[in-house]
Amino acid sequence: MAFKFTPRKKFCRFCADKELPLDYKRPDILQDFVTERGKIIARRITGTCAKHQRRLTREIKKSRQMALMYYTAVHSTQVRKKTI
Ligand SMILES: [Zn+2]
Repeated sequence: MAFKFTPRKKFCRFCADKELPLDYKRPDILQDFVTERGKIIARRITGTCAKHQRRLTREIKKSRQMALMYYTAVHSTQVRKKTI
């Protein structure tokens, strides 16, 4: 099997590490939970618990509004009608 960057273990990073800030001002951290196109990665893939996933979603959206993170690719290329 090829060594890919799949999540090793299913656990909530925010529960595991209390020091890890879940904040829109930290796009570097939020970036780990979105695809390169800016789509939020499903909880079952990242292993984030329901509680933190909900906060995460909120923070990511806030971060986008603050233009700290990339908007989805659709935003810039609206011509391409792809269901995201
Ligand atoms: Zn959690």
